[in-house]
Amino acid sequence: MTHRILVLGAGYAGMAAAVQLAARTTRRDDIEVTVVNARERFTERLRLPMAATGRQLAELTIPDLLDGTGAHFVRGRVTALDPDGKTVRIDHETTLPYDTLVYGLGAVADTTVPGADAHARTLDSAQDAELLATRLAGLRHGTVVVAGTGLTGVESAAEIAERHPGLHVVLLGRGEPGAAMNPKARAYVHAALERLGVEVRRAEVVKVLPDAVELAGGGTVAADVVLWTSGTRVAPLAAAAGLMVDERGRVVTDATLRSVSHPDVYAVGDAAAIRQGYGTLHGTCQSGMPAGVHAALSILRARKGKRPKEFRFGYYHTPVSLGRHDAVVQFTHPDDRPRRIHLTGRIAVRYKEVVTASPWPTYGRMKKMPASGAFWPRGGRFTRVAR
Ligand SMILES: Cc1cc2nc3c(=O)[nH]c(=O)nc-3n(C[C@H](O)[C@H](O)[C@H](O)COP(=O)(O)OP(=O)(O)OC[C@H]3O[C@@H](n4cnc5c(N)ncnc54)[C@H](O)[C@@H]3O)c2cc1C
Repeated sequence: MTHRILVLGAGYAGMAAAVQLAARTTRRDDIEVTVVNARERFTERLRLPMAATGRQLAELTIPDLLDGTGAHFVRGRVTALDPDGKTVRIDHETTLPYDTLVYGLGAVADTTVPGADAHARTLDSAQDAELLATRLAGLRHGTVVVAGTGLTGVESAAEIAERHPGLHVVLLGRGEPGAAMNPKARAYVHAALERLGVEVRRAEVVKVLPDAVELAGGGTVAADVVLWTSGTRVAPLAAAAGLMVDERGRVVTDATLRSVSHPDVYAVGDAAAIRQGYGTLHGTCQSGMPAGVHAALSILRARKGKRPKEFRFGYYHTPVSLGRHDAVVQFTHPDDRPRRIHLTGRIAVRYKEVVTASPWPTYGRMKKMPASGAFWPRGGRFTRVAR
């Protein structure tokens, strides 16, 4: 009997799971790995702020990466899950059966604020970034409001201000940019934004209009373009299928990354609520890839009748670009609190580029040497705490 493993979503986490599974089962005919993704092209989300100002993204395709592993690729949009019948609907028309499912559909910008869906742009895909790049290139003067002072907002505002000095860029959000960094690194972020001419405003956007954003407490900011980077949300697919999800709709996993309600389902990346001793992981590439690898190893151990190991992960850095020529790398404790040490300037730019470029070669290495993907900081005492 062939055991069918279906990986939903070939982003940073799903791809890591798929390659790890495929590489370890290449010569086995008792396991079949199939990867489903909405697009054939791998989306380098970490590069989308740069793509939004015209940088060409590399043509990285999922079938190319899987080539030679024996894994199958299905291009299509997952439209429903039936965890009891163990099937997945693709594009409302095809049904794929599975024995084990890896749920890695990621998250998108949370555009639930009124008007955001209709009038704001997002950076969820290469196409979003390319459309924004075209719009910005056609705008000689005017105001771009970047809503959301998180790291994606900071990176996007800095990129746009640097590439389009004729535009007025307003970075607008509830929190302080660089809030999670140490005071010196945070001050560096502020100075860089000021140097680039980005106006930083602490305010909450309550509505997006065709030509402005409305703020809590009254007042508006006129905008020719609004880029929405504030918060993320996951697809309601898992919740609709009856999987146990958290308050944000993410699949709740046990220590081995298995759904707590459906043992045939594993969840990874932004779509999963993965507990560690210090709290639930927040969406990053640095945690998503290890989670993908770990889920693959858990599945294979369970297949062999061995007890899967606990997933333990500790954060180690937050690299943030500030345009193409400046960056900050905040080193962190395993629970993501900032350490005193950080890098700035050209060395930080180089560090950030190495990190951003690393996933694809990492997958390539894993294809040949699966064990090479299994190295990440386990978090020491921070992840030893009982759940
Ligand atoms: C602009 C931007 C910049 C970022 N910068 C950084 C950074 O510098 N460092 C960092 O660590 N993190 C960064 N992040 C966060 C990081 O990109 C995410 O944490 C990471 O992508 C999560 O990986 P994932 O595999 O869970 O989801 P994703 O990488 O989003 O992959 C999900 C995949 O599922 C596919 N998919 C979704 N729904 C469906 C469906 N219904 N059917 C079929 N396929 C579907 C998508 O097309 C995608 O390929 C950034 C995010 C954004 C938006």
